[in-house]
Amino acid sequence: MEVKEMTCIRCPMGCRLTVTKDGDNYTVTGNTCKRGEEYGIQEMSCPMRVVTTSVRVIGGVRPVCSCKTADSVPKAAIDDVLKALAQLRPVAPITIGQVLAEDIAGTGVSLVATANNRAAN
Ligand code: SF4
Repeated sequence: MEVKEMTCIRCPMGCRLTVTKDGDNYTVTGNTCKRGEEYGIQEMSCPMRVVTTSVRVIGGVRPVCSCKTADSVPKAAIDDVLKALAQLRPVAPITIGQVLAEDIAGTGVSLVATANNRAAN
């Protein structure tokens, strides 16, 4: 049996959860709603995170562009995601919301720009 305590981050109430794993069965206590139960089980079985970072840009007025994954990726895949992004060199101009890469590190999740970056000339 495995027990973890965590804070639910699905809303500002921040309920304190206790998640118990017994074989393939999960029990969540401390949650005020169903979303907290879902969060606790997800966090215990396969924690997911949105990755926020920046990538180098070719030909932009700024050398980098801030970006984030369009959805959360498995926490265990974040190192692979960051390694893949270190190789990425999108070309300016870049528009906020633009997809800079698809299926990053085989996660099925895209990378999107969170800022504009005009071409240098
Ligand atoms: S359990 Fe429900 S009410 Fe509590 S923090 Fe999570 S989402 Fe909010």
